[in-house]
Amino acid sequence: MLPKVDYFCTFTFDLFLIMLTLCAIASGSNGNCYYIGNNREAVLVDAGISARQIMNRMKQQNLNPALVKAIFISHEHTDHVCGAKVLSKKLMVPVYVTRRTYAAMYNNHKPQAPRFFDPGTEIAVGSFSVFPFLKNHDAAQPCSFRISYNGLHTGVLTDIGVACENVIREVSHCHALFLETNYDEKMLWEGRYPWPLKRRIASDHGHLSNDQAFDLISRHSGNQLQIVFLSHLSAENNTPEKAMERFNELRQRYQIYLTSRHSPGEVVSITAAAVATDTFDAVLPTQLKLEL
Ligand SMILES: [Zn+2]
Ligand SMILES: [Zn+2]
Repeated sequence: MLPKVDYFCTFTFDLFLIMLTLCAIASGSNGNCYYIGNNREAVLVDAGISARQIMNRMKQQNLNPALVKAIFISHEHTDHVCGAKVLSKKLMVPVYVTRRTYAAMYNNHKPQAPRFFDPGTEIAVGSFSVFPFLKNHDAAQPCSFRISYNGLHTGVLTDIGVACENVIREVSHCHALFLETNYDEKMLWEGRYPWPLKRRIASDHGHLSNDQAFDLISRHSGNQLQIVFLSHLSAENNTPEKAMERFNELRQRYQIYLTSRHSPGEVVSITAAAVATDTFDAVLPTQLKLEL
C-alpha cells in the first residue's frame, strides 16, 4: 500500500487597513476642485476656483496642501482651470493636462510647465495611479479620471453629456464617485435660460441630469461602490434638495453626500482591508505525516 501523505500549509500574512480621504473642495458650475488623498500624499482633480480659496478651504477641512503632489485638469472650461496656474506655483507641483486641452486654455490660465498625458494611459503619482479617459463634453479633449490606491478606486465624473462606454466601465469599478448631477429636467426646460443654451446643456456634449446620474448608478455600479458625491450642481437649474431627493431610494445602499460651490464639502474616508503581499510567507509543507 502506498503511503498517504497529508500536506499542511501554513500561510502567514498581515492584514492592514487602507484608507482614502475624499473631499469636494469646490463643486458646481462656477468652480470645481476634488481632493483624493491618503496619509502621505494627495492629488487634485481640477482647480477651478482661485488658488487662495483652494488653500483656505483645504485648511478649513484640515487637509494639508503640502500633501498635494499633482493637479489633473479635466478640460479647459474656466470652472475647472482658473486657479491651476497659481496653485501649481504655490505648491510647486505639476499640472497634468492633454496637449489639446492646453492649447484650448486661455493664455492666462496656462500652467508654466505642463505635463502632457494621453487619455487611456495610466499615470503614477507617488502611490496613486491616475487613469484618464475620454468623455463626452463640449471641450477640446475632455477627460474624466479614475484615481486608484491599493485597489481602492475613486472616479471623478463631471461635465458629462451622456454616460458613454468609458464612463459606464469606470462606474462599474469604483468604490467612490464624484458624480455629476447638474440639472433637474423640469427646472431646466421650464427655466429662463435661452433655448439654445438649454439644448446645449441637455445634449450629449453638455451635462448629466439628476435622472441620468441616477440611472447610471442604478444600472451600472458594481458591488464595491460605497460613496457617491452629488457634484457640479447648476445654480440655476437644480437645488441640493432636488438632487438628494432623486437619490433617496439609493441611500440605504450607498453613502450619498452633497457638494457645494460655496464651501468645501464633508471630508469622507473610505477604508478597505488589504493583504500585505510583500510579507506573504508560504511554508509548504510545514508538517508531513506519513500513515502506513
Ligand atoms: Zn464644469
Ligand atoms: Zn465644462
